[in-house]
Amino acid sequence: MGFWDTVRALIFGENEGISPCTFPLPPETVCPVHGVDLRVGKVWIEYGLYCFSDDFVEAQSARFPWANSRVMGGCIIRHGVPGRVDVKYCPECRESEKAYWREQQDR
Ligand SMILES: [Zn+2]
Repeated sequence: MGFWDTVRALIFGENEGISPCTFPLPPETVCPVHGVDLRVGKVWIEYGLYCFSDDFVEAQSARFPWANSRVMGGCIIRHGVPGRVDVKYCPECRESEKAYWREQQDR
């Protein structure tokens, strides 16, 4: 199923065929960028559709792949999941992400 099929399904409620999103914690234990142990913590689920720039996506994979400071609600809103879920994250990545946003503001 393509991205727009998913979006359409979300908007029009035709999501019977979409399996509920789950958040299994990934097997990784160490951040590949910072070499520190990943932690587990709760983050808020954010709803709505996001459109991140290519620049952000590039920076994210190179500098803070494990920031995980938010979770996109999208397809789980209809499945009664509470507002916060556990994710794995790297504290250094979160600092990197904050630095990235500061850089964007300084432009
Ligand atoms: Zn990291």
